[in-house]
Amino acid sequence: MEKKRVLSGIRATGRLHLGNYLGMVKGMLELQDNPGYEVFFMVADLHAMTTPYDPKTLQKNIYEVVLDYLAAGLDPENASVFVQSHIPEHIELAYLFSTVVSVARLSHLPTYKEKVRQYPENVTMALLYYPVLMAADILAYKTEELPVGDDQLPHLEITREIARKMNEKYSCNFPEPQQLKTEGHYIPSLTGEGKMSKSVEGSYINLTDELGVIKEKFARVPTDVGRGKSVPQEGGVAALLSLVELFQGEDKRKEYETEYLSEGVQYKSLKEELAQAIFEELKPIQARRKELDQKPKYVDRVIGGGAEKARKIARETLDETKRKMGLI
Ligand code: ATP
Ligand code: MG
Repeated sequence: MEKKRVLSGIRATGRLHLGNYLGMVKGMLELQDNPGYEVFFMVADLHAMTTPYDPKTLQKNIYEVVLDYLAAGLDPENASVFVQSHIPEHIELAYLFSTVVSVARLSHLPTYKEKVRQYPENVTMALLYYPVLMAADILAYKTEELPVGDDQLPHLEITREIARKMNEKYSCNFPEPQQLKTEGHYIPSLTGEGKMSKSVEGSYINLTDELGVIKEKFARVPTDVGRGKSVPQEGGVAALLSLVELFQGEDKRKEYETEYLSEGVQYKSLKEELAQAIFEELKPIQARRKELDQKPKYVDRVIGGGAEKARKIARETLDETKRKMGLI
């Protein structure tokens, strides 16, 4: 049986947080255990360069993401991990794709506009081009479905448009990739605004956070008096309740909701119990990470092996596309 290939990635902008874990990594781990799939975990170093970054820490950030992947359960026997820039075929394919996307389409994307607002001094070609390179990442492996968070939906739509145009214009056979929705496809920020993000200070809980750190972070989550006529659908309280549902179950969330509408919620104990529940899930990940941190050679070997596998496939797709487009 031909295996279905799946690629998904994480920007090398810092350590993984609960949003990355629940929105993407967990979904990938499920596929890795399914013999019908061939799974590629990418560390997106080129995408990390689309927002301001420090070249001195990029290598460290790449390594951190690989460690987090492995600690979270990536099994190199059943899946591959590689660094985006090690496979230059992605960039070449992205250039070919850029011939079928208009500048207007890219500049109207909500993700682009948001970054322009966030970093007005950094409105670069790379930032505009990000979704085209991401389409190349995904389509190089002919990925049909991939676990990604909701924030990536506009980029997936562009990817589908590119696939469609390449198929129509050049008779390519790219699939039109869809989101594989995980339970945690949208983890809100601890600040109460927007989503949890590596690049937004105070928004996240890292997979490496100790219990004390999680508690400190929760202490800063904005709450209210704890009772009212309707349960908040946004802000800090909504963020806490969605984490309660994911880590303590739907019934626990309902209990708090009932309390909110009657005698009131005690946030101190809610935060305490939630921190404990999250830490229980993170503990084995942190233990594995500590072990792996002692084996840099092993980690390098894993990345090298992943790149070799990935490159072969990306090369094939690139050659096929160049042929269809009349370049060879
Ligand atoms: P950055 O702020 O540097 O962009 P990020 O936290 O947004 O970092 P990415 O590397 O951009 O993380 O995204 C990696 C994967 O994690 C993507 O599939 C993305 O959709 C998913 N993801 C990121 N944040 C969340 C979130 N809050 N909830 C669910 N999924 C998320
Ligand atoms: Mg992001």
